[in-house]
Parts: sequence; C-alpha cells; structure tokens
Amino acid sequence: MINLVLFGPPGAGKGTQSEKLIAKYGFVHISTGDLFRWHTKNDTALGKKVKEIMNSGALVPDEITIAMLKEELDKNPQAKGFLFDGFPRTVPQAEALDQFMKDNGSAIHFVIALDVPEAEVRARIAKRRTMENRADDEEEKLNKRITEYFTKTIHVLPYYQNQNRLHTVQGIGRIEEIFENIGKIIDRNSTTGYPK
Ligand code: ADP
Repeated sequence: MINLVLFGPPGAGKGTQSEKLIAKYGFVHISTGDLFRWHTKNDTALGKKVKEIMNSGALVPDEITIAMLKEELDKNPQAKGFLFDGFPRTVPQAEALDQFMKDNGSAIHFVIALDVPEAEVRARIAKRRTMENRADDEEEKLNKRITEYFTKTIHVLPYYQNQNRLHTVQGIGRIEEIFENIGKIIDRNSTTGYPK
C-alpha cells in the first residue's frame, strides 16, 4: 500500500495528474476541495458552514477540514492506497494526517510537489475560469487563494522535506511527461519496501 500527497499551488495541475495516477495505480482519491464543493452544492450543514469561506478564497479552518478528512478515511478501510489532493494545506493538517495514518499502522510515503511558478499559475487559472463556472475562481478571489498558498500552505513543504519524504516535479511541460516523472518517483521508491 502506498499513500501519496500531491502538492502544489492552485492551478498546478493536481486534478489532471490525480486522475491519471488513480487510473494507473488504483488509489482512493481524497480531494478536500472536491469534498467541500460537494457539501456546498448539496447544501449540507458542513456546506453551509464553509460556503462563505470558500467563496472568499480563504482556507477552511483546520478543525473542520481535519474532521471531514478523518470521516473520509474511515469510509475507506479497504483502500489499497490513498492519494491526497489539496490536503494537507497547513502544518497542523500534515501532523493530523500522519497521526491518522499511524493509527492505521501506515504512513504517508511520498509527497510529490508540482513546481509551477506563480505567474504561470495565475495565467492557467485565468484560462480555466473562462472554461468552468467555479465561483472561487473569480478574479478578486484568485489573489486570496494564491496568497493563502504562498503564506500558509508553503510551510508544509519543509515539514515533509525534513523527513525526506518530499519529491519535486517540474509542473510545466506536457501533461504526459509530468505524469511519467511522477510515475518514476513512485515506481523507483515502491521497490524499497514500506510500512503496510
Ligand atoms: P485549488 O483549485 O485552489 O487548488 P481546491 O479545489 O483544492 O482549490 O479547494 C477549493 C477551496 O476549498 C479552497 O480555496 C479552500 O477554501 C477549501 N479547501 C480545500 N482543501 C482545503 C484544506 N486542506 N484546508 C483548508 N481549506 C481547504
């Protein structure tokens, strides 16, 4: 069993690469952004709570996010491996995730950070905004999301780097090529053995 975190700024291509990784390796995909969007769309109690926050482009408080994540993990006790997308976004979230994995006798084996410069991220999101109708992609909210990433989420990288779990992949280039580079990291490390 391999558990992976796919990390990167908004617009880095995490969603695109996640789909391909799931198809190849059979991960259970946990995207906190998708989960929050599902809750707001279905107007659940949680959705009502987070709607305003999400629409502002801010991060949802750790307590709410971690509780939702735990619930999702508990729904998938038979998972062959998890791919976390958009989580963790803060150091307390990373610590909580490690603890949940440990409680199940497992671990986060890799963190793959898609490296995309800020200017490229802004250009991509502006383009995506015209193609999808995502309320949180509106111009004035974009700045907030990118600021949240570069002021809060970026601190998760040294957390994993200090534990030698961080792998950086160039996030600019052909989708296939980026996917191959991620695959090489997974395949190279998969042969060395992991906690189950
Ligand atoms: P992006 O396209 O910016 O990567 P996501 O689709 O992952 O965004 O998430 C959309 C929104 O959901 C975020 O802007 C934030 O409000 C909320 N969110 C998602 N994941 C988290 C998280 N791990 N912690 C806090 N808030 C989150």
